[in-house]
Amino acid sequence: MCLYSHTPTRLHCMKLMADYLCWKCKIEAGTFLHCFWECSLIAPFWKKVVTLLKGWSGLEVPLTPELCLLGDRSHIPRIHNNIFTVVMVGLVTASRIILRSYQGLREL
Ligand SMILES: [Zn+2]
Repeated sequence: MCLYSHTPTRLHCMKLMADYLCWKCKIEAGTFLHCFWECSLIAPFWKKVVTLLKGWSGLEVPLTPELCLLGDRSHIPRIHNNIFTVVMVGLVTASRIILRSYQGLREL
């Protein structure tokens, strides 16, 4: 997916960056999974997003990368299509906010 294609590790492989470290924490390798999920500076944001989505949907929304990053519906069994759409809009919006925060190196 083009949206997520320019992580620090990829830019380093293309020789467009001197190092491959995460732009947020500057400690770990800036892989897709790290930048969008594992980074200690991103994890609290996802917790807030999932808490908000639980309130909207009235369902238990698990905090997993399979659901939050990939939209794996199997993590919320028996969810109605309309509710799942609302949850996915929230999750995609959260991913875009993370991406924009990396592009502008802003705080979440
Ligand atoms: Zn990081």
